[in-house]
Amino acid sequence: MDLTYSDTHRALQAEIREFARTYGHLSPRSGGGRKRPDQKTLDWQRRLLERGYAARTIPREYGGYGGASDVLEAAIIADEFSRAGLSPGIMNQGISMLVPTLLEVGTEEQRRRWIAPTIRGEVIWCQGYSEPGAGSDLASAQTRAVVDDGHFVINGQKIWTSSAHYADMMFLLCRTDPDRPKHAGLSYLLVPMTTPGIDVRPLTTMTGRAEFNEVFFTDVRVPVDQIVMGRGDGWHVANITLKHERSMLGDPNRLMQRVHRIRDLMTRTRIDGVRVADMPELRDRLLRLQGEVMASRCHYLRLLTERARGEDPGVKQLIVKYFGTTLGHRLSALAVDVLGAAGLVYEPRGEAAEDDEATTWHIDYMYDIGLMIGGGTSQIQKNIIAERGLGLPREPKASARG
Ligand SMILES: Cc1cc2nc3c(=O)[nH]c(=O)nc-3n(C[C@H](O)[C@H](O)[C@H](O)COP(=O)(O)OP(=O)(O)OC[C@H]3O[C@@H](n4cnc5c(N)ncnc54)[C@H](O)[C@@H]3O)c2cc1C
Repeated sequence: MDLTYSDTHRALQAEIREFARTYGHLSPRSGGGRKRPDQKTLDWQRRLLERGYAARTIPREYGGYGGASDVLEAAIIADEFSRAGLSPGIMNQGISMLVPTLLEVGTEEQRRRWIAPTIRGEVIWCQGYSEPGAGSDLASAQTRAVVDDGHFVINGQKIWTSSAHYADMMFLLCRTDPDRPKHAGLSYLLVPMTTPGIDVRPLTTMTGRAEFNEVFFTDVRVPVDQIVMGRGDGWHVANITLKHERSMLGDPNRLMQRVHRIRDLMTRTRIDGVRVADMPELRDRLLRLQGEVMASRCHYLRLLTERARGEDPGVKQLIVKYFGTTLGHRLSALAVDVLGAAGLVYEPRGEAAEDDEATTWHIDYMYDIGLMIGGGTSQIQKNIIAERGLGLPREPKASARG
């Protein structure tokens, strides 16, 4: 990994600093992101796309900037946005998970139809994987799709579907071939959420708000060309999406923004007349966490470098999700401790409550526990890293215990 800046890289750095000075006041607040993007967020996203600060490597024909994959450019953009406290753009399941999946295995028609409106934040996607009997053991999914008159007809139930209550589209894992072995009987479909027969029922979490949902399918008809790859390829496609989900969930650049926000909070906050930044115990916690975020970032850059060389980083990617989501929760716990008594005023009000700093940190603190579960639990990540990465003995299966 060569981290020396060339003249081109220094020019990019200067360009972003100028952008931050000119347009920084238009940035939406970082964090939150649990609702449909508002107009301010969409406008900001458009600006980032025009300059290639978002979707930099996505080809122009799909609405991206068409830049080459350059690790240092990616690092400079993330650094400068973090330093200036600017939103790095919309992060959601469509942009971070579906778009790279379509780039990898979608048809030309699917890429042209879906990528541009998704990266602009206009089409919101949700992920229809988990079912009441299929979470960690995702390949057990039972939602059925049978072919009838040029359509898949879907029946079944999904659960824990984030954003389904405001999403336009779902990428759905369902069973099309029940007679084949379980991993080989799945398919991956793109389903408009307005299709008749879809019933979305919000589930309230401990944040006091509905962030995910149950989704019921009754004779939902989707044209057969809305499949990604072929019948029976669903497990393969689902895993491509999961690979990107796991990188998104522990993104160290977002964690570094949190470190900066907490540093700012600690500098402004006083407890019993003492500036929190001067309290050794809390200051030590921040510095320790900052060190761990920096280590996580180096790991992330290493993965970017491998990808830019065309290598597959494999199981090493899972460390981002496992370590990053744990760090995220420890960071929001620190912020809640710093807020002290002020933090106790949290109450689950409407989406607008996220404009309140204490409320945002409390929601993050509770929501972050979910991030250690969603996209594959920490225990499952550790099992995979141990077995496939480190070559440790495989976990005994319940069925093999006799
Ligand atoms: C905030 C949040 C958002 C989510 N969003 C979505 C979404 O948008 N779309 C979607 O499809 N799903 C979503 N999920 C669901 C998520 O993917 C599942 O919750 C997760 O995969 C775990 O499945 P489960 O809940 O069925 O738990 P289970 O699989 O029943 O696991 C229960 C416990 O047992 C442990 N466990 C299970 N198997 C093993 C094993 N082999 N070894 C060791 N421990 C094991 C788990 O780690 C966990 O602690 C979301 C979940 C959360 C919390």
